[in-house]
Amino acid sequence: MDPIVELRKISKSFGNTVILDEIDLSIYPGKALVVIGPSGAGKSTILRIIAGLLSPDSGEVYIAGQRRRGLIEDSPDPIAISMVFQQSALFDSLTVEENVGFTLFQHSKLDRQTIRDLVTKKLAMVGLSDIGDRYPAQLSGGMRKRVSFARAIMANPYNPQDNPDVILYDEPTAGLDPIASTVIEDLVRQLQRQEQICGTYVMVSHQESTIRRTADRVAFLYDGKLSWEGSVAEIDTTDNPFVQQFFSASLQGPIRVVN
Ligand code: ADP
Repeated sequence: MDPIVELRKISKSFGNTVILDEIDLSIYPGKALVVIGPSGAGKSTILRIIAGLLSPDSGEVYIAGQRRRGLIEDSPDPIAISMVFQQSALFDSLTVEENVGFTLFQHSKLDRQTIRDLVTKKLAMVGLSDIGDRYPAQLSGGMRKRVSFARAIMANPYNPQDNPDVILYDEPTAGLDPIASTVIEDLVRQLQRQEQICGTYVMVSHQESTIRRTADRVAFLYDGKLSWEGSVAEIDTTDNPFVQQFFSASLQGPIRVVN
């Protein structure tokens, strides 16, 4: 099977700090990859490069086999990639309905009622109803997350290319209590199984429950390198000292402790 997204020898520095150092990463259709590692390791940076929001300093990004030149705004990808941002990134001054339908309201010729009906459908898919008129400040953190999921899966029904083929989730359970996290983790898996929604996602997380419940494969990022890749089951059997230290939350081991 060919990868749907492929990073080849991707490097990225901010100032003098090398964040990603010649990283190779392949994402396969229908699979869920979770990138893990300590805070500041560069996990979100990988997602932003895959989304085409940030350029690598060197290396190549292939989307469905086509090499991307520059950023997403410079040249369109052959498939759609959607991103769910860490802080939900909803517009505070817009209602839930206006947030979820934002791109269609702005850039499509669909009439208002059609977009409203689409928004209602997408909100139902993430388990929300009757909240279209509310503002983000009136929602719980978990609900805001779900609204941001609904926005990520919004698509123009007359333009099938709009449907995301890959969803990127940046820390979807950060800041949520354990029960709200479970709801979100279940939802990620549920969406993956829905016919109209793509089955491929890349997630960044350092929350153990989220990693275990939403990953098919796990990649460990540390010191600019992907130092380990394995299945969820292999987390408990690997002798990789980075993975062992990360999951035992130990201060002893090769991962430098930053105070
Ligand atoms: P993670 O997601 O693993 O916590 P990030 O990818 O967000 O890590 O960031 C990796 C490092 O790069 C951090 O030290 C962060 O401060 C730095 N960084 C990220 N984006 C920028 C930027 N636009 N300018 C400068 N430094 C950045």
